[in-house]
Amino acid sequence: MQGSDTIRTLKGVGDAVATLYKRLGIETIADLVCYFPRSYDDYSIITQVAKLRPGPVTIQATISRAAGRYVRRGMHITEAIASDATGSMRLVWFNQPYRASAIKAGKQYFVSGNFELSHQRFAIMSPSLELVSDLPLNTARIVPVYRETKGLTSRQVRSAMAQVLPFISTLSETLPDWVVQEQKLLSYSDALRKLHFPETIHDLKRARERLGFDEVFELVLASLLNKYEIMAEHAPAVPFIESVAKGFVGHLPFTLTDAQRRAIWQIYLDMQREHPMNRLVEGDVGSGKTVVAAMAAVMVLQQGHQVAFMAPTEILARQHAETLTTLLEPLGLASQVGLLVGGMKKVQKDRAREAIKDGRIRFIVGTQALIQEAVDIHELELIIIDEQHRFGVEQRKLLMAKAGHMPHVLNLTATPIPRSLALTLYGELDVSILDSKPVGRQPVITEICAPTSRQTVYKKIKQELEAGRQMFVVTPLIADSDSLEIVSAEAMYKQMKDRDFKGYAVGLLHGKMKPAEKNQVMEQFLAHSLDILVSTTVIEVGVDVPNASVMLVEGADRFGLAQIHQLRGRIGRGSYPGYCYLMMNDARAPSARLRALERTNDGFKLAELDLELRGPGAIYGLQQHGQLDLRIATLADVPLITRARKTAQEFIDKHENIARYPELSKRVKRLRAVTNLN
Ligand code: ADP
Ligand code: MG
Repeated sequence: MQGSDTIRTLKGVGDAVATLYKRLGIETIADLVCYFPRSYDDYSIITQVAKLRPGPVTIQATISRAAGRYVRRGMHITEAIASDATGSMRLVWFNQPYRASAIKAGKQYFVSGNFELSHQRFAIMSPSLELVSDLPLNTARIVPVYRETKGLTSRQVRSAMAQVLPFISTLSETLPDWVVQEQKLLSYSDALRKLHFPETIHDLKRARERLGFDEVFELVLASLLNKYEIMAEHAPAVPFIESVAKGFVGHLPFTLTDAQRRAIWQIYLDMQREHPMNRLVEGDVGSGKTVVAAMAAVMVLQQGHQVAFMAPTEILARQHAETLTTLLEPLGLASQVGLLVGGMKKVQKDRAREAIKDGRIRFIVGTQALIQEAVDIHELELIIIDEQHRFGVEQRKLLMAKAGHMPHVLNLTATPIPRSLALTLYGELDVSILDSKPVGRQPVITEICAPTSRQTVYKKIKQELEAGRQMFVVTPLIADSDSLEIVSAEAMYKQMKDRDFKGYAVGLLHGKMKPAEKNQVMEQFLAHSLDILVSTTVIEVGVDVPNASVMLVEGADRFGLAQIHQLRGRIGRGSYPGYCYLMMNDARAPSARLRALERTNDGFKLAELDLELRGPGAIYGLQQHGQLDLRIATLADVPLITRARKTAQEFIDKHENIARYPELSKRVKRLRAVTNLN
């Protein structure tokens, strides 16, 4: 048997079943071996019938009196009696008419299933049965449960897995020996065997540790290799001109924070090298990333080259274009800023494209339109990507291809990813963290509200509105359903406009509106011709309306901490303190998780908490790392991540040749394609 053999060579896998396997991504023996269990049922302990307690149980018993009958139309029931030396027990199956005739009366079976009350009598419901043997598959062990597809059950997968068990034991080690020894890991083949056929819970832990280590190690190694590859590329150096930096800072209406200074200095150092910068500036909402980006851009513009600034939404791109124009005005560079977004009229776009091509526009601010539409940015030397997790890797590659060489890349993100995680996921990036906020920031006071307190809250809100402030209302997040989100936003909008906030100007914003409509609403809100803006989460990133001091988040219990934190970053931006009301869906006591939002305004702390409590998926923006396909390693397992990261760096420092490890090399290559930024 070989890894490349088709699974059709296995008993019980014909063409039809092979098609089902294919649906799960399994075509070869090697694929099958790497199909990891989703969970396990612990049926390893055999209990005497007389000692059964409700719950999952296994007995070893002789079966007798198996018989099936229809109790009514469409409802078939099979019953049998299982007996050991201590007593007898009823077994029950529904709608499995083949059961009775398949049972060999008088034989010894392992029986595993749930022991529970059914029609006032205890029985083992829908149990798995196997004749007693040394290698039970579906009973009498820690039974793996695989992700199934219609027509293909875990039972079938287990039987296939048993057939490849001898093959698993022939698999050679994928990691260098020194790694396995230093890290005290199971061998690759041992780990796989124990994952599919664990004898004890300890086995399982060790197997998961080894395979989880592999995943993080491969991921980190891939990004480190990318990093060194990028470092070896040539990029035009951007010399640092002190007078340019001083001139810019001199015209700012505020002084830079130390964190901003540090980040800008790191960027200037990066760009002075003849190798591409690949830096991430990570800073909480309101930490002042735009100014940092503008300072990076100014240095490039002064040398007569081009800069592209990409924002995730059109609204943001427009805001950025305005902000940047203002920032560049005193330097006489304002006319070089140009907007390019999908919502522009064709003539405007054509004109912008022409100006970009002949170099009158040197600072291009836009959305994906930059990529999708043919734009000639041949002097591009710096790409700034705001909220980079919103852009796919492919899109980035496209944009970079336009320069004809590798430009410097500056990523900005407000997603406060804990450092441990950032280093793993973004190992190829150098990271600058803006960990202090500009002084004089207004506090945001956050309050969790029970549904019964709604009228009291509305009273408080009205006081703010009367004082001339504005409010954002964010309607509940509904998993996987844009349309339901819009329905709830529309309902909220009506209710506020016609009832609760009658007399105030209320606007509505959601993701399905046309870009032009969205802009119009946003501009109305910005101009204060709207007092209240009801929206889905589309307002989440970046928008700056200094006069908005109140936010009401509906169904707050549905949001992740990091997400609410990003939302509330919209308020408290002007000279007024912010009030964020988190309206609960039901009257239950709010979770400790939500309470944390009342206590702290520190995005990094909240992200760590979210990571601990809900896992990495909760951190906004990490969803796209589904591509990375981490099946075992939880990215919250900091000690494991640390071990794997150290080992990957050691691998590089030792000048190990990855080609010596073909399996590792293959996987790392695939990951490099996913994580690569060029
Ligand atoms: P974000 O990091 O969320 O992108 P912005 O760059 O939009 O933050 O900055 C938020 C606000 O803070 C802007 O109005 C900006 O002008 C202001 N700002 C930036 N840096 C400072 C600073 N050092 N001192 C005072 N205000 C600042
Ligand atoms: Mg921003």
